[in-house]
Amino acid sequence: MQKSDRSVWEMRRIWLVGFLLLPFLLVLTAWLGFSHAREQALQQADERLNLYASSFEGAINKYDYLPWMITQTPDVKRLLDKPDSPLADNINAFLARTRSTSLADEIYLMDAQGQTLASSNYQEAESFIGNNYRFRPYFTDAIRSGHGEFFAIGTTTGLPGYFLSERASSQSGEHQGVAVVKVDLEPLQADWQLAAEKVFVSDTNNIIVLSSQPQWKYRYIDALSDNQLDDIRRNRQFDSIELKPLGIKRSNYFQVMPEADGKTAGYLNKTLELSRPGWTIHYLVPVSPLYQFAFLTAGLVLILYILCITGVLWMRERSRRAQAALKAEQRLRALNDSLEDQVIDRTAELEKRTSELQRIQRELVQSEKLAALGIMAAGLSHELNQPLTAVRTYAASGRKLLTRALYEQVDTALDKIMTLTSRMSDITSQLKVFVRQAPAQPQPVDWSARIDFVLEMLEHRINQQQVSIQADYPPQALIRGDDARIEQVLVNLLSNALDAVSSTPDPHVSIHLSETNGGWQLQVEDNGPGFAPEQIKHLFEPFYSTKNVGQGMGLGLFICYGLVQDLGGSIRAECHAKGGARFEVWLPLYEHKATAA
Ligand code: ADP
Repeated sequence: MQKSDRSVWEMRRIWLVGFLLLPFLLVLTAWLGFSHAREQALQQADERLNLYASSFEGAINKYDYLPWMITQTPDVKRLLDKPDSPLADNINAFLARTRSTSLADEIYLMDAQGQTLASSNYQEAESFIGNNYRFRPYFTDAIRSGHGEFFAIGTTTGLPGYFLSERASSQSGEHQGVAVVKVDLEPLQADWQLAAEKVFVSDTNNIIVLSSQPQWKYRYIDALSDNQLDDIRRNRQFDSIELKPLGIKRSNYFQVMPEADGKTAGYLNKTLELSRPGWTIHYLVPVSPLYQFAFLTAGLVLILYILCITGVLWMRERSRRAQAALKAEQRLRALNDSLEDQVIDRTAELEKRTSELQRIQRELVQSEKLAALGIMAAGLSHELNQPLTAVRTYAASGRKLLTRALYEQVDTALDKIMTLTSRMSDITSQLKVFVRQAPAQPQPVDWSARIDFVLEMLEHRINQQQVSIQADYPPQALIRGDDARIEQVLVNLLSNALDAVSSTPDPHVSIHLSETNGGWQLQVEDNGPGFAPEQIKHLFEPFYSTKNVGQGMGLGLFICYGLVQDLGGSIRAECHAKGGARFEVWLPLYEHKATAA
């Protein structure tokens, strides 16, 4: 399997595992978030519940002493002995004063039959005086046990209240009565409503008697039995109010309560038993914020999860790119190394070929020299033949003159022989100069003298072809070079010119030497056929020749070019106006200072 395929599979595996784990992770974090929020809310609910319970207890407890205090009043005791006495007026006033001082809702006094003898609201239209409340448990309990308490809706006022009662004895001890204090719990309930929290109090029958939500008031939480309903009807606890079920639905974790707008909402129910027998205070914790918190936690975890996965993928991608870059760099380096090796190999090969080429060039120069030597040999043999014949003739005539004792004439003949042999010696010595190796260091060379020499060498051929030579050069023209090279250049150029004019009717070659641009310039012109313009660029290439096989090797101009270059000069060819060829060779001046140095 390819490496890239493997990494694709690995990446897919990460995504797959990530997606499979995600639902579990989200459910777990949501559940943890919910549990945490629930714990917090219940803890807070505990505190709020204690606060509400103590406010409720305080609202009632502060009146606990009051019924007993009323029963201890002497006038009250006397009134129980004489219910019809005018004392009732005093007690009414006393109860009214006590009510306004203690802020109780109402205070009243009943006889042993439950008939109201005096009341704090004696002056009001709904006065309790004359009413009988023996059906109320707080009356029967007080008569029976000395103390009673009860929550009920007032049958006279229609207002709810908590009734605290105490049995009273008359001064004579023959009669009994009951003192009652009605405590109004509505202000407490109003405070609860202002707090905008869900709190309510249920009584012994699980009927809600106080609630921060009006719609829950006087609703029973659990269904009431017939006995309970009978009791409620008998003691007229809720008077004309119709009791209805609360409509609560319970689940494992919370209960669903009806709301004012007809909808429902879920709550956790935190409860606390109150000191009033059978009474319970409930504090409801709404569950929707808990769910919101759970969703928020899961949402946060989801974001973190996505960030983590993205981070992992980003890191992997980055390392993959870094690896790819490293590999590319390594490949590039390897390529570079192999290129360098190739360059070294090629350079070595080139050097080898160059040295080979140089060797071949040297050999060619040598063979060209030999070819030139052949021509020179022919010219020399012709040149030497004549003086040799003349020497033989002078020698023979000298012998004859000697026999005749014509010594003066013999001397003249000997002089001529000496002149002719010195001329032959000159020719052979020139040949020696031509074949010797060129010195490594350029030396002063008189170009004019070299032209003389070469013309002498070619004289036989010039004469044979009947070529007219026009030579125009100064007596001396010093350039930097060496004799052999300069002579070879001249021989090549003049030989070519002679070849070119071989078929020309009136053959003519001109030689011109002039000083220019810090050097000497030689012009060799002929009136041969010249060359076509496209030929010119090939003239100095090796083995370029238009001559018949055996007549030209195409190396003369190539060697000339190399020799002139060696000496720091230049060579060019063109057709002159009259149609023949013109070669120009420029070589630098020989400087005396350099020589001195
Ligand atoms: P080769 O003389 O052996 O052919 P060269 O290098 O000396 O070799 O000359 C190359 C060619 O240049 C000749 O074959 C000829 O075609 C041309 N060439 C040289 N000199 C002249 C000239 N003076 N006139 C016409 N053509 C010439």
